Amino acid sequence: MGTGKRKINTLIIHCSASEFGSVEMIRQWHRQRGFKEIGYHYVILNAYPDGDHWQKKRLCPDLEGKIEPGRPLEKIGAHTKGHNHDSVGVCLVGDRVFTSRQLEALREIHREMLKINPRLRVLGHYEVDPNKTCPNLGMEWVRKYLSADHEP
Ligand SMILES: [Zn+2]
Repeated sequence: MGTGKRKINTLIIHCSASEFGSVEMIRQWHRQRGFKEIGYHYVILNAYPDGDHWQKKRLCPDLEGKIEPGRPLEKIGAHTKGHNHDSVGVCLVGDRVFTSRQLEALREIHREMLKINPRLRVLGHYEVDPNKTCPNLGMEWVRKYLSADHEP
């Protein structure tokens, strides 16, 4: 989990604003927007990897909470205007509903990032960009959850 010369100060949480998704899908969306690569460093899956599974309500329980690596940590992401240089961008697949397995996976990433920088800050996209509601989670609650050892 090397970050090269890049200093990581902030973990910025996003959501996909879709009911389904994966690194592969988001990579396609981001390429269509002109990015060379997926903008996030990690994507945390729910049980619907694509639109077909979603429409047919075919759950993939094995995927729920899976952490898929996106852009390598040592590379600057493309997820939060003005804050990419010293942050790691994590995307929870979902719009407004996220599962406890996804939150556990977020906690796992948070723990790993704390090893890189024990003073790491955790912010939601909307906290640095008032035009966004992403990740549609109350960040006070998320920070409390991440810093506590108990389950939600
Ligand atoms: Zn966002």
